[in-house]
Amino acid sequence: MTVPHEPGTGTGQAGDGGQGHGRHSSQRAPLARLSAEPADLLVIGGGITGAGIARDAAMRGLRTVLVEQHDLAWGTSSRSSRLVHGGLRYLETGDLRLVLEANRERRVLLRIAPHLVWPLPFIFPLHRGDRVGPARLAAGMWLYDLLALFRNVKAHRMLGKRALLEAEPMLRERGLRGGALFYDAQCDDARLTLATARSAIQHGALVANYIAVVGLERTAGRVVGAQVEDRLGGGRGVIRAGVVVNATGPWGDRLRQMEDAGAAPLLRPTKGIHLVVERRRIDHRHGIIFTSPIDGRVMFVLPWGDLSYIGTTDTDTEESPDRLEILPEEVVYLLRSVNARFPNARLTVEDVRGGWAGLRPLVAPDAPQAASSRSRDHLIVQGSGGMITVAGGKLTTYRVMAREVVDRAIRELRLREGRSRPGEALTDEEALPGGETDDFGPFRERGLELGVHPDSVEHLVRHYGTEAAGIYNLGGGDRRLLRRLLPPHPAIEAEVLHAVRRELAQTVEDVLVRRLHLYYEHAERGIPAARRVAELMAREYAWDEGRVAAEAERYEAFARA
Ligand SMILES: Cc1cc2nc3c(=O)[nH]c(=O)nc-3n(C[C@H](O)[C@H](O)[C@H](O)COP(=O)(O)OP(=O)(O)OC[C@H]3O[C@@H](n4cnc5c(N)ncnc54)[C@H](O)[C@@H]3O)c2cc1C
Repeated sequence: MTVPHEPGTGTGQAGDGGQGHGRHSSQRAPLARLSAEPADLLVIGGGITGAGIARDAAMRGLRTVLVEQHDLAWGTSSRSSRLVHGGLRYLETGDLRLVLEANRERRVLLRIAPHLVWPLPFIFPLHRGDRVGPARLAAGMWLYDLLALFRNVKAHRMLGKRALLEAEPMLRERGLRGGALFYDAQCDDARLTLATARSAIQHGALVANYIAVVGLERTAGRVVGAQVEDRLGGGRGVIRAGVVVNATGPWGDRLRQMEDAGAAPLLRPTKGIHLVVERRRIDHRHGIIFTSPIDGRVMFVLPWGDLSYIGTTDTDTEESPDRLEILPEEVVYLLRSVNARFPNARLTVEDVRGGWAGLRPLVAPDAPQAASSRSRDHLIVQGSGGMITVAGGKLTTYRVMAREVVDRAIRELRLREGRSRPGEALTDEEALPGGETDDFGPFRERGLELGVHPDSVEHLVRHYGTEAAGIYNLGGGDRRLLRRLLPPHPAIEAEVLHAVRRELAQTVEDVLVRRLHLYYEHAERGIPAARRVAELMAREYAWDEGRVAAEAERYEAFARA
């Protein structure tokens, strides 16, 4: 296999609002374009749910528009535990259908996005006094493999104390009773969302970040579109659509109240935080899942390169999804739980390199059931104005939710407009951008031939899959672009141009937080690279010196806050 030289990767202008420039172009649609003609479907919210709906709808041939008030994946979809999992914990509640479905989705995502979703071996240690005992764990593990139809990455293995300590030598030995080795998958949540939105664009959807819905348009009481505000360029407009879908996750009830001020809340969001520490402190080799000795809740310690992230909490909160904070007591809870299982880690608040907080858009137990299709996990309802709201769900099963929403929207469109049946969406067969093969060997070789740092080669292949080739090509005209942005972090300069040309990055924060992840992975949150990123973006967006300085400063202020 040879690594293709992709056309058009060395030139091109961002911001031309171009759609239909071929498979590789994916840029933000300008406001004028969004409102130029009515869409079949207007999707509000650019998290994984909205991106999945837009992809499914565009694949079926619907004229689709997706708007997101901030950046794509700015909400919960970049603040998850980054797992594509079969839902081991649903075994406890007996929701076997959900486990079966999540297992199937895990297989699909491993296949269509091998660069963004990868298998992760887990150790589940059991200590004396834990809520779960060995017999229960063994039964759960068998059931988990059974519900994966024995097609999980590998079958589980129960381990005795000695084998467990060989696998994870730093685990607390006292009270250890044994445990299990099993498999699930880890993902890059923000990049999975981006790739899904880009696939929607490749199928003809118009997608724009930094376009907020500020009101709904009505005709004879029905919602027929939305008033929007361009938070980058300024200006307002109206986007008309046959059906409007509210996929705003934790913001869902706000949009429902725009439709009907008296609408009953559907959601009861809970908050979850994650902390990032240096992996050598815990010195674990697998993903670790365990029950917290403080309250028996299931927790994770997950590997992320040289880092580990620890999660998560699950608390009711009144905090706004616009501004979530990590509270000191949440930090203490997570660190104490991990220290109890890995006593040599001795983690303190000073060891925390960073973290994130997100809101689970959970369906309230007493949410109205009328006119709804409800699973334990998600809910699709139509409001008094006909807007379709999707609530709940998780990253792992986004494709299933998307399909159900689009089915509902199509019924609605046919009902109202007498339309013929649209095409099929092969969302489980077509790879997401970069995932066309899982044989990345040739892409590694090409990078090394070009003199790209070996760590960067690995990083590019892991994050971009086959699109690593396009990033190498960006360095064809200017070899400096193949340099690392902020060594020893492996990200290279060419990724910034890629982020602008193909991944809809509009600000330095978009690049450093959700695309290159330096915000989470660099000791100084990527601040020393902000100026260089702004300079590289300036080439694409024709920013002048004043704008470059302002954009870099804006990032610095954000990262320090
Ligand atoms: C701590 C935590 C851990 C999790 N871990 C996992 C996991 O490991 N695996 C898993 O499968 N799931 C996990 N989940 C669940 C999963 O992350 C969420 O279900 C999923 O990301 C929700 O996606 P969404 O698109 O519905 O919402 P969001 O990602 O929040 O997207 C909604 C978007 O709507 C936008 N929006 C809001 N109002 C407007 C407006 N007026 N105009 C335009 N746009 C608007 C917001 O800016 C936001 O970006 C976790 C969740 C949390 C909180």
